[in-house]
Amino acid sequence: MPVDAPTLAVWKFASCDGCQLTILNCEDELLPLAGAVRIAYFPEATRGTVAGPYDVSLVEGSVTTPSDALRIQEIRQASRVLVTLGACATSGGIQALRNFADVREYRSIVYAHPEYIDTLERSTPIADHVPVDFELHGCPVDRHQLLEVLTALVQGRVPRPAAHSVCVE
Ligand code: SF4
Repeated sequence: MPVDAPTLAVWKFASCDGCQLTILNCEDELLPLAGAVRIAYFPEATRGTVAGPYDVSLVEGSVTTPSDALRIQEIRQASRVLVTLGACATSGGIQALRNFADVREYRSIVYAHPEYIDTLERSTPIADHVPVDFELHGCPVDRHQLLEVLTALVQGRVPRPAAHSVCVE
């Protein structure tokens, strides 16, 4: 693999991992890309970590804790292109049900020691915190849209429609 191959990172926030599993389930289709992409960070699939910056970051999950809110800023700064995956990342996900209730009440009912739970009042999509280049909707994300975006970004072209772009270049 060329040392200047584009680097890909996959990040998890509050989510069920289902969108990451969709990536893993695309193994056969992704093989042709394997020689053209360097997996820099993807804990669900590999142990190694390559320091940023990253050419493409895929982000699963919503922002639900103060540390999430800081981490997504760091990821955005380290990423040339940032793509959000699935309903959690694009709209807050099922965990955004808290937005219609008092999260402190939930916390006191569910946890024996709620004082140790550091959480935000609301679950929010990634785009509420940082600029996002492409959003892939669905729960889980659609594999064909995912493959189209990944292939296009590696080939240096604009993904065909279906993937909803929120960034006009
Ligand atoms: Fe799981 Fe759905 Fe969220 Fe993807 S969008 S991480 S499948 S809950």
